Amino acid sequence: MIDRPNAAAAQAAGPLVDTFGRAVSYLRVSVTDRCDFRCVYCMSEHMTFLPKPELLSLEELDRLCSAFVMRGVRKLRFTGGEPLVRRDVMTLFRALSRHLERGRLDEVTLTTNGSQLARYAADLAACGVRRVNVSLDTLNAAKFRAVTRWGDLDRVLAGIAAAKAAGLHVKINAVALKGVNAHEISSLMEWAHGEGHDLSLIEVMPLGDTGEDRLDQYVPLTTVRAELAERYTLTESSHRTGGPARYVDVKETGGRLGFITPLTHNFCEGCNRVRVTCTGTLFMCLGQEDAADLRAPLRASTDDALLHAAIDAAILRKPKGHDFVIDRTHRQPALQRHMSATGG
Ligand code: SAM
Ligand code: SF4
Repeated sequence: MIDRPNAAAAQAAGPLVDTFGRAVSYLRVSVTDRCDFRCVYCMSEHMTFLPKPELLSLEELDRLCSAFVMRGVRKLRFTGGEPLVRRDVMTLFRALSRHLERGRLDEVTLTTNGSQLARYAADLAACGVRRVNVSLDTLNAAKFRAVTRWGDLDRVLAGIAAAKAAGLHVKINAVALKGVNAHEISSLMEWAHGEGHDLSLIEVMPLGDTGEDRLDQYVPLTTVRAELAERYTLTESSHRTGGPARYVDVKETGGRLGFITPLTHNFCEGCNRVRVTCTGTLFMCLGQEDAADLRAPLRASTDDALLHAAIDAAILRKPKGHDFVIDRTHRQPALQRHMSATGG
């Protein structure tokens, strides 16, 4: 791929700072809306995916990411859908590793369901990826199949083992689900910490119609934490990864436990991130509908000036925060868009 940083345009435009003084240093990129699982909180069983021509090509994704890197983004996270089901996705990781080598980026990472990790872990490590987040809600094979609808637990565990063997630091992400895993969190944590992986718990967010009732799925992490605190010694940790998780150290396991709590605790004040979908739509906030089209300026010219102007205009519209609510009066999704569109 060609390095097209368009340094002059980027330099003239300067770093990305929103109207609340927050610098944008973290870009999440969804490389596909497709997935080989159908998790009950994320997708409905029968999804209609985007026609392929609507997706940004791998070259366009490289150009887009590079434009953000030139504007001060230090961390890229790839997600989806399932990022590792995008054909030739390793070409993109390989191309972007140049920014790591030149010190323009601190980190390239991904969030994956782990189904393809056994195949790609070594290649990812060779491209400079040091950490992966793997989503895993339960160690019970039957429940795993029920939650993911299509997933195979053994395959994911093999993927996680391959990532560890390739030297990647693994963080397990689990969505806390009432009646599914809420009472198994301690065994999931004991396993993760025993394997040397961090574990982060996520509150289910009301995104997209999945054919499931949110109130039936939702369990506040304050409850989960209180239950864990009866059995374990949890000490606040200053550990930060640039993401929204807040961590505690668990004395008995020697591991770290993160809480991602968009509903019970608002984390918007320190928000340093924006998200772009696989069609080049930039969302300035996961919880708001406002978005900017970056595909048109990307395709309108090979020069990045239009792209930078569109990014600037969008960042100035980054809202102060989101307003997710799940309660008895808000049983419908707060946003119609599925998590797989913006990548979580
Ligand atoms: N397919 C990859 C995976 O599952 O890790 C990446 C994309 S997935 C959309 C990213 C993360 O969002 C996963 O950890 C998933 O559990 C989480 N997620 C999906 N839908 C969610 C929802 N409604 N509320 C909270 N987290 C959700
Ligand atoms: Fe696929 Fe990830 Fe959504 Fe599950 S959470 S359906 S693995 S995109």
